[in-house]
Amino acid sequence: MQKPLRPTDATKNKLTAVRERIHDAARAAGRRPEEIRLLAVSKRHPARHIAALVELGQRDFGENYVSEALEKQAQLADLPITWHFIGPIQSNKTTAIAEHFSWAHSVDRVKILRRLSSGRPADYPPLNVCLQVNLEQEASKSGAAPEAVAELAALAGQLPGLRLRGLMCIPQPTDDPQEQRRVFGQLRELLARLPHRDELDTLSMGMSGDLESAVAEGATWVRIGTALFGARPG
Ligand SMILES: *Cc1c(COP(=O)(O)O)cnc(C)c1O
Repeated sequence: MQKPLRPTDATKNKLTAVRERIHDAARAAGRRPEEIRLLAVSKRHPARHIAALVELGQRDFGENYVSEALEKQAQLADLPITWHFIGPIQSNKTTAIAEHFSWAHSVDRVKILRRLSSGRPADYPPLNVCLQVNLEQEASKSGAAPEAVAELAALAGQLPGLRLRGLMCIPQPTDDPQEQRRVFGQLRELLARLPHRDELDTLSMGMSGDLESAVAEGATWVRIGTALFGARPG
């Protein structure tokens, strides 16, 4: 690997600030801060920035592009990192995802579920899966329609090599906290209505601009890029 970046004060301050935001949002919602986990979204940031956060105790990292992620994983192979795939999943990338990640947050159709299942090596623990839901029904975005989620969840529960953990969403960005909470609340209600609700422990929702609203509505993973790493290069 390139020379590991020694964590700068700026990096430390950003991580501390994000942890405080999560802590404060949890308290405001009457939740225990430990219920909310921080996924550091490292897309387009170099491996040495990831290494700096690992040195500060961060363990979970989310990537959106398979080839970029595999390169960084090779560079960081000796570090204690849990890798999450959070980008759109193309069917020709499912084997690589099944072999190189612990979590897939962005599963939205039957074909992808089946391919992740068959691609997961038999001697690995199950791949943790979240179903991505398109709550606002935007044609341009990935994610399953809310009506399709129960059937996908049932299938995910049956396929070998997968462990369904819960639901994920990426709402339209808005500055209006009420609107943020309305959409996150829909994901929470959708999870509550699924069969085997008691086995599902995950709501992957909330990013740099709306994590407080997500925590207020029950987020268990917040996926944070910009607030941790700064603006993404190029
Ligand atoms: C990029 C990305 C994030 C992080 O967004 P920020 O606004 O930079 O915090 C979270 N989730 C997904 C799926 C992303 O693609």
